[in-house]
Amino acid sequence: MRKIALEEFHAELKGQGVSSPEHAAVKCPACGTVQSKALLRKQGCPEDSIEGQIGFSCVGRWNDAGPPPRKDDAAPRRVPGCNWTLGGLFSIHDLEVQKDGVSHPMFEVASPEEARKLESSLVSG
Ligand SMILES: [Zn+2]
Repeated sequence: MRKIALEEFHAELKGQGVSSPEHAAVKCPACGTVQSKALLRKQGCPEDSIEGQIGFSCVGRWNDAGPPPRKDDAAPRRVPGCNWTLGGLFSIHDLEVQKDGVSHPMFEVASPEEARKLESSLVSG
């Protein structure tokens, strides 16, 4: 488990080098899908939920993606993501962000390459 302060979390997102905070990306611990606020919006997450759901619920919650793929499931996914949320029964997250003395489970920060790849896929598609 990695525990970092909120400031560090923001600094890591900033370090991804994307064009705006909308494209700062995190990664679902269940399915590995790289996701940003821009992707959540595109997949149907209501505008007023995006801020509270990014890094907490997988993008697949809004596009009926279903459960995370099994390891032997090689079929391409119809839509990005899975139905995972950190609010569920099992905790498999690797990151906690500390704010005002409280630890919040959070999806892991995506690599700069992953974040930029997602941004360009959204911009071009
Ligand atoms: Zn997922």
